[in-house]
Amino acid sequence: MAYTIEQVKALVREFVDFPSKGIVFRDIFPIFREPAAVECLVSHFVERIQATGQQIDVVVGLDARGFLLGPLIALRLGVSFAPVRKGGKLPGSVAQVTYEKEYGADVFEMEADSLTKGQRVVIVDDLLATGGSCGAAEELVRKLGGVVVLDAFIIRLAELNGDKRLEAPVYALIDC
Ligand code: AMP
Repeated sequence: MAYTIEQVKALVREFVDFPSKGIVFRDIFPIFREPAAVECLVSHFVERIQATGQQIDVVVGLDARGFLLGPLIALRLGVSFAPVRKGGKLPGSVAQVTYEKEYGADVFEMEADSLTKGQRVVIVDDLLATGGSCGAAEELVRKLGGVVVLDAFIIRLAELNGDKRLEAPVYALIDC
């Protein structure tokens, strides 16, 4: 069965009070159970990225669910994929950014040679909430000399105004 993008959106599930009380967790994994849904999702993002009319050199995915979609988009665009990981997970020379989360600070890192100066980047993650993670990823890309062209998400929690913490334009498939 071929999927429409509306059918893909309907696969996202909500879990109330997970992982803690008051949080509505958005679960994208059901999409990945259906190859045709993944195909539709990846094509949708590739079209959106191409519609910017901008040259793209690298897709950057955020730890951890940005690693699901990011490499598939990079493969389709014929460009590199580079991961942003939580601190202490990457070997060798890394660039590092510390950012504030709801409870305390967190660290994001990229391998220093995963980008070269002037490369144009799309950042991909499953969900934009406060924008803290993606803002830190934008900063990392800038530290390595890259330029963020677009921040792309499956879901945006619009009321948290995460866009305001981001420098690049934002695309989200689902606004809730
Ligand atoms: P933030 O840094 O506040 O924008 O949070 C975004 C990151 O936290 C993403 O990597 C998401 O995977 C995760 N996240 C935050 N809120 C949710 C939620 N309600 N459901 C699923 N993942 C979430």
